[in-house]
Amino acid sequence: MRKILVSACLLGVKCRYDAQSRDYPALETLRERFELIPFCPEAAGGLPTPRTPAEITANGVFTRDGRDVTNEYRLGAQKALALAKKEGITLAVLKSLSPSCGKDRIYDGTFSRTVVAGQGIAAQLLLENGIEVFSEEEIPLLLKSEP
Ligand code: SF4
Repeated sequence: MRKILVSACLLGVKCRYDAQSRDYPALETLRERFELIPFCPEAAGGLPTPRTPAEITANGVFTRDGRDVTNEYRLGAQKALALAKKEGITLAVLKSLSPSCGKDRIYDGTFSRTVVAGQGIAAQLLLENGIEVFSEEEIPLLLKSEP
C-alpha cells in the first residue's frame, strides 16, 4: 500500500497549538487506499503542546509574544523530510494555513487572521524535494490524480 505523510492533527492527534485536533472525514476515504503516516513537524521540532501560536514573517517564524522559533520549525521540517525519505513517501496531505504545514496559504505574520499566499516551512521543504503536497481540502483532487 502506498504511504502518505499526513499532518498528525488531521488524524486525531491533539498536537495543534491549542492541544486540539481537527477531524477531517475525507481522510477515511484515503485510509482505504493508502497507509497514512501521521507526523507533526512542530512537535518533532521540539515545541511543546499547547504552545503559543506562531506565524511566518520576513525575518523568520515568531510566536505571538515575539519569540523566534525559526530553528524549531526548520528542525521539524527536516525531520519530516527525513521520514519521507526513509519511508519512501512521495505524497503528503498537510493542514492548510499552518506555518509548518500550509501548502499555498498561510497567515501573514501580523496575528490578525489575514491570509496570504505562501507555504509553511515543512510544506516548502517537502515540495522542494519533490514530494507532492495536497492540502486537506484537496483530497478529492488527490483521489482523482491517483486512481
Ligand atoms: Fe498539525 Fe502541522 Fe500544526 Fe502539527 S504542525 S499541529 S501537524 S498543522
